[in-house]
Amino acid sequence: MTTPIADSAFDAGVVGAGGAGFPTHVKLRAKAEYLLINGAECEPLLHKDKELLKRFAPDVIQGAILAAEAIGANRIICGIKETYHDVIHAVEQAVEGTGVELKLFGNFYPSGDEYVVVWECTGRLIPPAGLPVHVGCVVSNVETLYNVALAARDGAPVTDSFLTVNGLVGEPLSLRVPVGTPIRDVVALTGFVPSNDPAVLDGGAMMGHLRTDLSLPVTKTTGGYIVLPNDHYLVRRRSMTKTDMHRKGHSACDQCTYCTEFCPRYLLGYEIEPHKVMRSLLFAGQQNEEYWSKWGQLCCECNLCSLYACPEDLDPKDACVWSKEVLRESDAPPPEWVQPERPHAFSEHRKLPLSKLVRRLGLEKYDLPAPWTDTFVEPERVTIPLKQHIGRACEPIVSTGERVERGQPIGRIPEGELGAPVHASITGQVTAVGESITIERT
Ligand code: SF4
Ligand code: SF4
Repeated sequence: MTTPIADSAFDAGVVGAGGAGFPTHVKLRAKAEYLLINGAECEPLLHKDKELLKRFAPDVIQGAILAAEAIGANRIICGIKETYHDVIHAVEQAVEGTGVELKLFGNFYPSGDEYVVVWECTGRLIPPAGLPVHVGCVVSNVETLYNVALAARDGAPVTDSFLTVNGLVGEPLSLRVPVGTPIRDVVALTGFVPSNDPAVLDGGAMMGHLRTDLSLPVTKTTGGYIVLPNDHYLVRRRSMTKTDMHRKGHSACDQCTYCTEFCPRYLLGYEIEPHKVMRSLLFAGQQNEEYWSKWGQLCCECNLCSLYACPEDLDPKDACVWSKEVLRESDAPPPEWVQPERPHAFSEHRKLPLSKLVRRLGLEKYDLPAPWTDTFVEPERVTIPLKQHIGRACEPIVSTGERVERGQPIGRIPEGELGAPVHASITGQVTAVGESITIERT
């Protein structure tokens, strides 16, 4: 089934801006009772959703109303943090007379996890290993809904990404930059010009990836960069090899169970027990490792167990990721799950306040506001990946030497495949075509 709203989102290349980049047009072809606006940005030091809502709440709400129309939802709930007073004011004004409801979340981590958002907004628990749509919900990030509105209203493609730059920078800031801009150019906007490359956590302190190559580009799913000195705790943790982490986990895990006791999915009532997955390190390559691997399958990879709960600085999250690989590659049947009826009795008391997490991560001195700036970056060159989403990579539809206009499609998805097209983010000349398309400003 097609709808004009889903079609416009597809043509514009809208993907989930809050994480993995699931193509939004697919979500908009589902049927659901609730459209949930995920404004509960919970990564320490990242503020781009908050800043976006402060300035563009009417667009976000319009996008939500259009998305709700597409999926046939009769309720729209906007989840935002109760500590974001100025954002609440902006959203309250934008929703006036629309019927859109507000749900205020506590300032805890990971309040932006889809399972948490659905529970907090509707009191429903998604089936284990299931999706929000299985309990009548579609969850969408605020930037995604902003892009849905612009696509439906103006036919505007996704050419820019909203992000925060924070950490070891000049002035932390939140802004909009063309997709494909090198990380180095974005960091330089803060007034900080790195003489030698510092470490950058792309996507946040908890779930982001370590980047040391600052020529890498901003993508549609980039939420922000945390710049850190190379000897920071988080950089050292990210720099450890998998083999070293497994060796350490094998010998140092005392089965204290803190990783399980604080796990947000466990606290919601799901069958996940990362301390048992740590036992699987003892059975690596042996017969019953699949049994222990079951206990990591429902992990959302929030990293709370590894970076906060574990007193030994071990990596149960990584063990959970590894356990998923083990089960995928084994002949074992998929686990049979029990649907939780309610969260754990202690779930409310064990929510992790963001301030505590910031202290544990050694980020206090960087925990500053990152106010919005209207400065628009005009990079001389952009490198636009042909795969910025879940699904198939785009096929290039431009060639080297060709002149392209900002907003022009440059990559398309093969007929019938999952994905989203990509567009030129600056006007210029195509200088390279491979897994990415390079455009130089002319
Ligand atoms: S918290 Fe650390 S030491 Fe304790 S069981 Fe989990 S991995 Fe082992
Ligand atoms: S990363 Fe750790 S805390 Fe987070 S869901 Fe997975 S096991 Fe639980």
